[in-house]
Amino acid sequence: MLFEHLNLDPRLLSAVTEAGYTVPTPVQAQAIPALLTGSDLMVTSRTGSGKTAAFMLPALHRLATRPLSGKGPRLLILSPTRELASQITEAAKIYGKNLKQVRTVTLLGGTPYPVQNRNLARPYDILVATPGRLLDQMDSRRVDLSQVEMLVLDEADRMLDMGFIDDVKRIASATPITRQTLMFSATFDKPIARLAETLLREPVRIEA
Ligand code: AMP
Repeated sequence: MLFEHLNLDPRLLSAVTEAGYTVPTPVQAQAIPALLTGSDLMVTSRTGSGKTAAFMLPALHRLATRPLSGKGPRLLILSPTRELASQITEAAKIYGKNLKQVRTVTLLGGTPYPVQNRNLARPYDILVATPGRLLDQMDSRRVDLSQVEMLVLDEADRMLDMGFIDDVKRIASATPITRQTLMFSATFDKPIARLAETLLREPVRIEA
């Protein structure tokens, strides 16, 4: 299987080619077709499996089909740590570089509010956030999640380990029930399975 067989928008395909990828990793080969059909997804995989592109490419494909609404993010990605959030934002830039209209905002705990508030004041499509700071901004009414079409929980096991479960549930409940939801985790133990049951609808299961 090659990337060109995945039916991705040609602008994404050229970004992937420029990044030097030709063959999708196993998680990408399974996740991308499932996500393009609109399925929810539960992925158990190690870091380094190529999971970021596995969700970012279908997400960008979806964003590319409609212009900005200006009413709030259409893609929301939650990360347990600032480091991972920054990597995700970087990936959105690399894979989305030929989609000129797509704008990403990153909300990280510990960074100054004035800059964040300015970033949130302009229309954007993608929000990458750590849960605590996102809740702060939701409570201040600077973030409205009513337009979210896709919710991604990256490293969900670490979010649970760090005590973010209630935050994650509150954030998810502020998004539309019709959203597409994806969970990525290194493990699939009881707490993760329970969270998956709460948030996902008939998910495709991938272990890679
Ligand atoms: P991730 O698991 O998403 O953190 O990705 C791990 C690393 O693999 C990153 O440095 C990516 O740039 C790289 N990568 C992702 N997908 C591919 C691919 N299909 N071919 C080659 N490298 C890739």
